[in-house]
Order: sequence, then C-alpha cells, then structure tokens
Amino acid sequence: MPTPQSVKNIVIVGGGTAGWMAAAACAKVLGPSYAVHLVESEEIGTIAVGEATVPHLKQFNNLLEIDEVEFVKNVKGTFKLGIQFNDWGRLGDSYIHGFGQLGPDVGPLPFHQFWIKARHKGWAAPLGDYSINTAAAPRGKFMPSASDAPANSPLSDIRYAYHFDASLYARYLRGYAEARGVRRTEGKVRHVQLRGEDGYVESVTLENGTVIGGDLFIDCSGFRGLLIEQALHIGYIDYSQWLRCDRAVAVGCEKVGPPTPYTRVTARTAGWQWRIPLQHRTGNGHVYSSALISDDEATATLLANLDGKPLGEPRLLRFTPGMRKKFWSKNVVALGLASGFLEPLESTSIFLIQSGIARLVSLLPWNDFSEVVIDEYNAQLTFEMERIRDFLILHYHATQRDDAPLWRECARMSVPAGLAHKMRLFADSGRSFRESEELFAEPSWVEVMIGQNILPRAYHPLVEQMPDDQLKQFMQGVAQVIESCVGVMPLHQTFIDRRCAAPALHPSS
Ligand SMILES: Cc1cc2nc3c(=O)[nH]c(=O)nc-3n(C[C@H](O)[C@H](O)[C@H](O)COP(=O)(O)OP(=O)(O)OC[C@H]3O[C@@H](n4cnc5c(N)ncnc54)[C@H](O)[C@@H]3O)c2cc1C
Repeated sequence: MPTPQSVKNIVIVGGGTAGWMAAAACAKVLGPSYAVHLVESEEIGTIAVGEATVPHLKQFNNLLEIDEVEFVKNVKGTFKLGIQFNDWGRLGDSYIHGFGQLGPDVGPLPFHQFWIKARHKGWAAPLGDYSINTAAAPRGKFMPSASDAPANSPLSDIRYAYHFDASLYARYLRGYAEARGVRRTEGKVRHVQLRGEDGYVESVTLENGTVIGGDLFIDCSGFRGLLIEQALHIGYIDYSQWLRCDRAVAVGCEKVGPPTPYTRVTARTAGWQWRIPLQHRTGNGHVYSSALISDDEATATLLANLDGKPLGEPRLLRFTPGMRKKFWSKNVVALGLASGFLEPLESTSIFLIQSGIARLVSLLPWNDFSEVVIDEYNAQLTFEMERIRDFLILHYHATQRDDAPLWRECARMSVPAGLAHKMRLFADSGRSFRESEELFAEPSWVEVMIGQNILPRAYHPLVEQMPDDQLKQFMQGVAQVIESCVGVMPLHQTFIDRRCAAPALHPSS
C-alpha cells in the first residue's frame, strides 16, 4: 500500500499560455487535496504570440467543461479548418493541410490510393477537392459538424481548431483557474533553492523576499527555463541542422476583410510568414534564419506583406529550435517554451503543453518521484516531439525551390532516418502509416507530401480491383458530394456573427 500522499503543493512558475493552461487543468482535475500556486511577473510579461492551434484544443476545453461559444467570444477567436501553404513546393504552389478526412476509405484502402491512380490517368482533380476542410477553407466557409447529417456525410465530421488572442486566452484561463482556487502571486523569481541532499527544488524566492515552497514545481517560465535549465542544468538538444529558422518578427495589423477559416503560411526567401485572422485584428509574423537575412530585412519583408496597417511596433523573438534533454527531472516538470520549441509552422506548441499536462496527470506522483515514472514521461514526450519535428522538417526538405540558399540547402540536407523512410515509402506506392499515437495522422502526412509534390510512383495493387470507369465515377461522385456540402455551409464570418461574435471594443484592444 502506498504511504499517504505527500505531493500536494504544486507551484507553477510562469503565467503565459503554459502556466495558465497547467493551472486551469490542475484546478479542474486534481481536486481539493492539492494546492496550486502560480507565480508570474507582469514586468517580464509573456511571449504574446502563439495564436493558432490544432483541433486537440477542443478536448482540453471539454476537459475543463468550457463552453465553446463563451470561449470564442472571450478570446476573440475564429475557426481554423487547416493551414494554407503558399510557395512551399515551388513558387506559385498553394495547398491546404486540412484537419479532416480525405475522401472515403474503400474497404481496407485509404481514399488517396484511388486518387493516386486517377491522378496518373489524368482523371483526378487536386487532392484538396476531395476533403470538406480543404474545399471549404479557401471559399471562406465554416460550420462545425452537423449533428443531424447522416453519418456518411462529410458534414457530420468537420474537424477544426481555433485562432485566438494569446493574451486574452491567458487572461481567460486565469479567471477560470482563480475561480477554482488557484492562488496567484505577482513577482519576479530571483532565486531557486535546491535541497542539499538530493538537489530537488525546495522553494523559489521572489525579489521582495517572499519564499514559495512546494512539492512539485511546474516550470512555465518560457525560453529561460528558470527551473529546468537555470537551476537543474538539464541541457538542450539543438535541431538547427534541420530546422534552420531561429528568429521571428511579429506584428498585428488591422483586419481588412472577413477572417479566413485557416492560417496562411507563405514561404519567403529565408523563411516564411504567418497570417492568423482574429475577430479584431490579424496576427502576422516572419520566421527566418538569422544566418541568411538581417533582422531589418526580415522586418521590412513582414511589413511589406501585411493586409492592413500595422498595430504597434514589430517585436523580435529569438529561439533555438530543439528541446530539453529531459522534460521532467527530480520534482520539476517543464511545460511550454521552458520545455523546448521546434518552430511555429504547424501550430504545435500549445498542443505540446496540453499533451504534457495530460501525461503529467496520468503519471502524477504519489509520495515520491519514482525514476520509472519520470522516465516514462520523458520517453512519451520525446516521442511526441520527435514525430512533430520530422513532420516539420518534411515541409522544408520536400521542396523543389532553388531560388534561394535556404531552400537549396533544405532540399539537399540529410534528414532523420524515420522521416527519410516515410518519404521513400510514400514515393514508392503512396503508403503512409501513423506511428503509435503521433499527433499527425495519415491524412496530414499525405496532404503535405502531395502538396509538396511527392507524387507516388505507384499505388496499392488492390486499387486495380475497381474498374477504370467505376474509378472515374467514384472520383467524380466524391468531389460532387464535397461540393454540395460546401454549398450549404455558411460563410465563416456569418457563422461568427450569429454564434460567437465578441462585443465590439476599441480596435486596438
Ligand atoms: C514566433 C513564435 C510563434 C508561435 N506561434 C505559435 C502558434 O501559432 N501556435 C502554437 O501552438 N504555439 C506557437 N508558439 C509557441 C507559443 O507561443 C508558446 O508555446 C506559448 O505561448 C506558451 O508560452 P509559455 O507560457 O511557455 O511562455 P511565456 O509566454 O514566455 O510565459 C513565461 C511566463 O513566465 C514568467 N516568468 C519568466 N521568468 C520569470 C521570473 N523570473 N519570475 C516570475 N515569472 C517569470 C513570465 O512573466 C511569463 O508569465 C509560437 C512561438 C513563437 C516564438
């Protein structure tokens, strides 16, 4: 029998997206036998980017029993069916990585196997025409799954994520967490006290001398990794040989039209630019390699490619793509930027916070910090990070652009063995398999590989069991069903106006 619970005082250092997500989840899930105390410094502030998500955030909201309409209003959010990639494979290319299914499976075969044959024969429309997400997004349409649609209708399964204002999201979660008993202390951590005998963190001391002790410390202090790195010196694995971008410059701009139901990412000469539409403004950033372009040039490129007038001064952010050698060490668990940062191309960092929280809850220590539990946590998150890393590298590596050093170097670089295998397997005969519970499932890999012009040489032999005239009809039928479904969907702006428009405020707020 375990001895009585002794891990019950949880201290969270940092009040950005990671800190408040952790605080909200602990408050909801752990119950009254845990005390949760969050320390944050308004003077240091938060990174205030990170405004695009993946669909899993809905699960986090469900866990917290957050009402979607209330949530979207509070964070001035919009809906996201996927990401539009412009100029990635070749200059002039455009494709959407949508979150939904790609056409119907036929027996054991995924739809894209039939598409490959039809494409070779010249009978196929672009892959995006066969998915409700990728067909609806460029037409500005959005709705969630219709509960009254037949189960086989694409309208019954529309997967989406959110765009939101990062500062409003942290504020919203703070209200949620504080209402459920999380204690917040404003102040700057000046010193981290380690226990003599085993080097566990015992307490943090603020600049005003306040000492906050705890049993479990969650480091959400951002890139500085106040506990995991500065106190425990855990070390960092640098991925910049594959992920060459190490800086970003970000600025909001006035919104000039209805919000698109997708994030747009446009490849530039030495990196790429994001565009994230919100209800009250548009978020923009240029992510780039500092070895290839100066900060001034990067800023000029960003400012030259905004939809509307910039709101404020562009902010420069530096990062090293990679991750901590361990995410959990002794009694410290690092979440968010404190745990590492790959890069923002596929909006995966907030998901990684959510995933870290879920795994921490499932491996919550009882009265000690057993190595086997810590090892399991680190192994699970390492797997998660590495799979996402490979998916990101794919976008850079599978390019035919030769107009700039970044793209030439990325096309030539050798990539991790797992990714190289995945790309070879797909190029051979269109086969792609999800590894264990990795974040991105088969349709995501297929959409990006096709989108970046990896057209498989062959397809699964069972495709031949469908006669050619039937295949032609099948492809046309699927595209028609998608087209008619998109036809009945409302415009994204109309959907927001009807259901979840935030109260009008001053445009800069
Ligand atoms: C350019 C860029 C774009 C991004 N885009 C996306 C995206 O689209 N989607 C996505 O999912 N993610 C994105 N991310 C990542 C995302 O921004 C972060 O994962 C998320 O905001 C969480 O940040 P954080 O809470 O870990 O850190 P921060 O926001 O930096 O918060 C750190 C907290 O620690 C506090 N703190 C630090 N030091 C001390 C101290 N000494 N004492 C007290 N408090 C302290 C700070 O005050 C702050 O409250 C992006 C990141 C970058 C760099």
